[in-house]
Amino acid sequence: MTNLGFPENYVEILPEVRAFLQSDLKLHIGGRWVPSISGETFETHDPSSGRLLARVPSAQADDVDAAVRAARATFDSGAWHLKLSPSDRGRLIWRLADLIETHAPILAQLDSLDNGKPVKKAQQVDAPLSAEHFRYYAGWPSKIEGATIPVNTPGTFNYTVREPVGVCGLIVPWNYPLLMAAWKIAPALAAGNCIILKPAEQTPLSALYLARLFEEAGFPAGVFNVLTGFGETAGAALVAHPGVDKIGFTGSASVARTILRNSADTLKRVSLELGGKSPNIIFADADLEQAVIGATWAIFGNNGQSCTAGSRLYIQRSIFDRVLTGMSDQAANIRVGMGMQTDQPDLGPVVSMEQMHTIMGYIEDGRSSGGQAVVGGQRIGGNLANGYFIEPTIFTGVQDSMKIVREEIFGPVVCAMPFDDADEVLHRANETPYGLAAGLWTRDLQTAHRFAARMQAGTIWINTWGDTDAASPFGGYKQSGHGREMGKEALDLYSEVKSVWIRVG
Ligand code: NAP
Ligand code: MG
Repeated sequence: MTNLGFPENYVEILPEVRAFLQSDLKLHIGGRWVPSISGETFETHDPSSGRLLARVPSAQADDVDAAVRAARATFDSGAWHLKLSPSDRGRLIWRLADLIETHAPILAQLDSLDNGKPVKKAQQVDAPLSAEHFRYYAGWPSKIEGATIPVNTPGTFNYTVREPVGVCGLIVPWNYPLLMAAWKIAPALAAGNCIILKPAEQTPLSALYLARLFEEAGFPAGVFNVLTGFGETAGAALVAHPGVDKIGFTGSASVARTILRNSADTLKRVSLELGGKSPNIIFADADLEQAVIGATWAIFGNNGQSCTAGSRLYIQRSIFDRVLTGMSDQAANIRVGMGMQTDQPDLGPVVSMEQMHTIMGYIEDGRSSGGQAVVGGQRIGGNLANGYFIEPTIFTGVQDSMKIVREEIFGPVVCAMPFDDADEVLHRANETPYGLAAGLWTRDLQTAHRFAARMQAGTIWINTWGDTDAASPFGGYKQSGHGREMGKEALDLYSEVKSVWIRVG
């Protein structure tokens, strides 16, 4: 039980949210709500105020084992992928989308409290995009087809079928808690798998609430299981468990390396959506008004806590000062505040004290290596001193070789650098171990197509930034990941292809 004394300027907490936070939160395993076997719990906090929100179970290896058994039993029974028709599976996934939509105000408050993001954004962006993801994949169960293959062997018929992988462990981060879970759950469900979701320790609440919606929608027990817990315990046990067929992971490159190592013994399938240090290039011929607004929100959207944040900004030298002045004006007008305050801010806090210290460390490092924070660069105090707030920050005077330019910060910090010509900036843009996204702003069609072809990234944005759609594939080149989520490509991550040979002659 938690004493929910929120700051006075918060929007009214919905009765359902209040009741949920004050309830005895449990793991969801095999259609039942159970405490962790050890009885251990951990706290989750509101990064806007530092307040305790709730205690959730801390799943350990024995809880992971129970969840794997439950998911396995459901999978082996065929209750989901064999006994329900494709249309019925699609109908259930669609019903879940409806429930996400009708419960969007609740899910949005949970994500805003847990992550700090403005509740209006959680309700108008995160929740609808999550629902849309389920709607898109609701259409797939009836369209996942095999092929008949014209093989050379006489008197032989060969065809393929696509089958689910089995039990999928889905491990997600805290930046878009509900949406990152939806990106994985929806295609895994459509392909016929059973799921164990492990949300990030900072943001476990919406995942638990989602399990209620699965129950309300009427999914067979054991199709969707949720384990709240730490990466080093619950996450690691899921990765090592021989009963888990596949791990779908979104998070940092360093944890991804650990996951690959720990999955080696069981040789399980692993797909990875990782970070980035995405280059955003503004040419002198661009629509500068559009480019300035685009580049500002490419980095400051979601407080820079986006895997696709446009954190390396290359500006053609002749327009460098103009663009910087424009972006500085934009940044100065960004209102930072508590995610749940009545007067909704543009940005909330960063997710945790730990993350705040990491970001401030990068800012200090940028300064000590000769860069200047021409905008921002400080922690925000005053009435926000109890939370983890950082000013939107623009650095100049930095070089490609500096840590602040090379490493993912995952906070509201952009490095602005001038360039002279196209070949130079193309080389500099690609000179990174990452390859998640890249963008450019130009009116020249040739430059646009040339860069689209030659920039090494899974997503290229031209005269825009940040667009995604459930139907369009998303993922990384190089160290930004393995595999593509969204679109029909995501179904490859969650299915096996079986080739069947029959002697007919
Ligand atoms: P993280 O530390 O890598 O954590 C991600 C998830 O992995 C969490 O649930 C975490 O649990 C779990 N985990 C940690 N150690 C583990 C282990 N040994 N075995 C199994 N699971 C483990 O990342 P984060 O700090 O939460 O999120 C930020 C990162 O995610 C950034 O690098 C960002 O670029 C990336 N990201 C990528 C995308 C994309 O689509 N490409 C989208 C969003 C974010 P705990 O919560 O307990 O640590
Ligand atoms: Mg983490």
